[in-house]
Amino acid sequence: MLEKRQFYINGTWVDPVDGTDHKVIDPSTEEPCAVISLGGKADTDAAVAAAKAALPGWMATPVEERIAALERLLEAYNSRTEDLAQAMSMEMGAPIALARTSQAGAGAFHLKNFIAAAKAFEWEKPLGEHAPDTRIIHEAVGVCALITPWNWPMNQVTLKVGAALVAGNTMVLKPSEESPIDAMVFAEIVDAAGIPPGVFNLVNGDGAGVGSQLSAHPDVDMVSFTGSTRAGTAISKAAADTLKRVHLELGGKGANLVFADADDKAVKRGVLHMMNNSGQSCNAPSRMIVEASRYDAAVEEAAAVASAVTVGPASEDGRHIGPVVNAAQWGKIQDLIQKGIDEGARLVAGGLGRPDGLNKGFYVRPTVFADVTNDMTIAREEIFGPVLSILKFDSEEEAVQIANDTPYGLTNYVQSADADRRHRLARQLRSGMVEMNGQARGAGAPFGGMKASGNGREAGSWGIHDFVEVKAVSGWAAE
Ligand code: NAD
Repeated sequence: MLEKRQFYINGTWVDPVDGTDHKVIDPSTEEPCAVISLGGKADTDAAVAAAKAALPGWMATPVEERIAALERLLEAYNSRTEDLAQAMSMEMGAPIALARTSQAGAGAFHLKNFIAAAKAFEWEKPLGEHAPDTRIIHEAVGVCALITPWNWPMNQVTLKVGAALVAGNTMVLKPSEESPIDAMVFAEIVDAAGIPPGVFNLVNGDGAGVGSQLSAHPDVDMVSFTGSTRAGTAISKAAADTLKRVHLELGGKGANLVFADADDKAVKRGVLHMMNNSGQSCNAPSRMIVEASRYDAAVEEAAAVASAVTVGPASEDGRHIGPVVNAAQWGKIQDLIQKGIDEGARLVAGGLGRPDGLNKGFYVRPTVFADVTNDMTIAREEIFGPVLSILKFDSEEEAVQIANDTPYGLTNYVQSADADRRHRLARQLRSGMVEMNGQARGAGAPFGGMKASGNGREAGSWGIHDFVEVKAVSGWAAE
């Protein structure tokens, strides 16, 4: 078992002052795979103090040098992707092929996009031709607390660290206690990249401890958080007394509108997207809403596709899905599947219990419910497991109404050959992102939500924007 009790503070690995041992569980085996320390107030204070002390120097570092630091970080990251993939696979259960490509790959993708965005970013500019003497300056917000989840760990860490770093902020990262090891590898990467001491610090801890301490800390200027809507609310309240900037990326309950004229692969694509990462994605298309004339065929196809999805240990190579992250999450998913049955949804694939042959490990059967109505619990709550709900609509108007009838607003999906319809829907759907016909968003496109899905935008130039203050200076050219 790995022993990783130290924290990275002020450019060096230090023993915890106030730590409590915590075992990290491998969800594929239910066995402990590492022991870390959950920090206490003294550890949080030490990390914040290091970030505060490093702030003036890093803010004053010319942006070209900060971009060069990010380039070194990307190079160091690329030399450790196998270590990152192995760590993520072990601690949060992503199958190793997915961990190598999507999970570790996402980090390199984001860092690369931040380098391009930072080079193009107008860090300083005149207000406009009408007021050339007024200067707009983008500068760091200050000391940032970065609190991240376990489901796409490196994706989230790099989206926050890359933007914060290049914008001149200093930071304390508190990764999820479910996935601390990959974040500790990342701290080694930061160290290897020669980022100045104190600019980046890492303290492990849980939400009630280090998470709350950072959120309320008087010397933290901004909290950037990705995780559950529950924790986002708690953090916003904790941050209110010190009036910090709070940047939130929260849960989702994405609608996937499948029209009768959608392409032949639309249903299969939607099911596989739902099952990817064992359903543990905030932007999962968890409500497939199908036009009545295509509904029966879509249900049959979705059931067949889900039944063909295989489940297995994260360490095995291949395109199967792995376990879900922990016992609590497994139990929550089982309760929601039971609720779906009790409330009258029609189970057409999967169901309760573990898949055949898997008696240990937090494995869930790829599950599809048909005849779901939007008032059922499985249509309202984020399940965060491989469970798809299928609903029916008769008109475009009704499709939009069902899609928007949710507290969330992260990603919605549209499958239709009709471009006019797609453009109409893109404007009517209340979400930060709308994905059409399986096309990925371009590099550097902003990622983020509305309503209970949060208020932040991450990636590319919008990601940098969320980590800067905008300063207006008059009399710039005057003698
Ligand atoms: P979580 O909210 O339980 O934990 C996330 C992080 O917050 C962890 O580091 C945890 O220790 C910390 N935390 C928990 N309670 C806290 C508190 N009161 N104060 C401060 N910190 C606290 O979420 P999770 O289970 O790790 O992640 C899954 C959730 O994240 C899902 O709801 C998912 O949709 C969401 N998510 C959103 C995005 C996005 O960009 N919108 C991306 C990935 C995941």
